[in-house]
Amino acid sequence: MRAARLAASGGPVSQSFAPPDTELFRTLWEKQDGCCALCGMAMPESRFVLAHATLWKKQRPTFDHIRPKAAGGSDAAANLQLAHAVCNWRKGAQE
Ligand SMILES: [Zn+2]
Repeated sequence: MRAARLAASGGPVSQSFAPPDTELFRTLWEKQDGCCALCGMAMPESRFVLAHATLWKKQRPTFDHIRPKAAGGSDAAANLQLAHAVCNWRKGAQE
């Protein structure tokens, strides 16, 4: 089944199909040149550059806490970086 294409022009895009469109996100994205802070590989800009939704789910850019909140890290911009969802999960799975 082929899902109807989302209106590309200006329509609201589901949160799960696009990275968070915030100033902080864009600042970090530019600073990191679109690359994952954990593995160094490029991150997809949106679901539509990938062939499969499952790839997007794993590779979508997410906010990663440089110093984990569990270790006293804050939500401040200085403590955040962008990383693939899967890299973020992998890091989180470590003790
Ligand atoms: Zn990564």
